[in-house]
Amino acid sequence: MSQAKYTNRSHTSSFWQRLLPHQLPKIHVVAMTSIAIMIAIIAALPSKEASAKRNEAQITLNFIDDSPQATLLATEETSEVATVKKVEPDTNLVWKHQTVKSGDNLSTIFPRVSLGAGDVHALMSSTTLSKPLVDMRPGQEIQFGFNNQGELAQLKYVKTKLESYLYTRIESDTSTKNTPEYSSKYIGEHIILEPEIMTTYRESTIKDSLFLAAERAQLPHGLIMELANIFGWDVDFALDIRKGDRFALTYEEKFLNGEKIGNGNILSAEFVNQGKSFKAVRYEDSKGLANYYTPEGYSMRKAFLRAPLDFTRISSNYNLRRKHPIHKKIRAHRGVDYAAPRGTPIFSAGDGKVIASGYSKANGNYVFIQHGQRFTTKYLHLHKRKVKRGQSVKQRQVIGTLGSTGYATGPHLHYEFLVNGVHRNPRTVSLPQAKPINKKELSRFEEHTQPLMALLTQYQGASQLALASPTPNTSAKSSDN
Ligand SMILES: [Zn+2]
Repeated sequence: MSQAKYTNRSHTSSFWQRLLPHQLPKIHVVAMTSIAIMIAIIAALPSKEASAKRNEAQITLNFIDDSPQATLLATEETSEVATVKKVEPDTNLVWKHQTVKSGDNLSTIFPRVSLGAGDVHALMSSTTLSKPLVDMRPGQEIQFGFNNQGELAQLKYVKTKLESYLYTRIESDTSTKNTPEYSSKYIGEHIILEPEIMTTYRESTIKDSLFLAAERAQLPHGLIMELANIFGWDVDFALDIRKGDRFALTYEEKFLNGEKIGNGNILSAEFVNQGKSFKAVRYEDSKGLANYYTPEGYSMRKAFLRAPLDFTRISSNYNLRRKHPIHKKIRAHRGVDYAAPRGTPIFSAGDGKVIASGYSKANGNYVFIQHGQRFTTKYLHLHKRKVKRGQSVKQRQVIGTLGSTGYATGPHLHYEFLVNGVHRNPRTVSLPQAKPINKKELSRFEEHTQPLMALLTQYQGASQLALASPTPNTSAKSSDN
């Protein structure tokens, strides 16, 4: 019955500043052309930025490659202030904003701010970074900065809230100043802003459905789906969720200039299903691959999915029918039935080889898959089959679509799981243990994940206290309804 949420930013902020110092806001300046051009920029700097010149010069020393694609991270110590000054649009200019519409390109947008083909040409021909402008998408924004002569002094292409390109006009030769259209040169800068990452906590108990529980805890839809994916090897979200099941998680929220711009990864989570607790923690290994593991270091990914279809497609009012709809008699049911709309994609529960793909009067369209020596999975009543006999398949690969072929009154998947030829309940059979984390990674794993699990436990404990208290003195607990 508890839904609590925390966005105690000062607390998590200091916690995360200690944990992830590299994720503090910073600005990356990417892809200038060459040191020679950098020197030209410095020479062309307006006088008000003269004081930043020394830092600019230091930036050039950080260049490691003069190719246009080189990614150059200005280090904070040498250049943060100067970098910010340089990449920010000039506020002395008069700015006009244009939103990119379907079918737009520079030649259609420029006339809307009274610029012509010559201006497009000047921009496109003078910077090696002009290519991104060709790939603009509807909804993005182009900002035009005009100087007091009415010339295009800066152009900013805002790709996303975090990524933009700024093109700044430089006067390379004073003798050509009288023909501004064709003599102006622009240099481009790729600006990537890194959001500030905060950690947030949510918990909720299921009273009706997983989604309503998430909604009460103000957990975004995308994150509850991700949570279900993380635990999808242990919990059958299609059929095994019960009232009283509960979950708790910490995840990242992204902020830019104090404004929330999105969510990041789930960091740690617990899901209690019918009294059984499952825990998961995110770990990015030394090669940069991120995955979810148990706190002990076993991958959450297992050889088999609990349910071979997306649980969100399951008909909510479905109950298991033991009486066979065609024969009107109770049959020993050797599989699990999932009722869902016709056409719902059906996944292979694990990696394997298709040993049968065919049609029979009773089964309708069916697919059988062999997984190693011991396991076979069977999928019946398919609307369409998408694999052929002998074909290798990966876990979660679509092998067909849900239907009602054969002896079936309504669309459903009949799913069977066999171990050494014997039918087992796929929802309860103990499945092969997942691989533990590489021994070489284990100490690094513990170092990274223990604080994440500790934080989850800390929040859960705080929530328990808040719930036990008759007059909660913090805003930690959301109203229960
Ligand atoms: Zn069945």
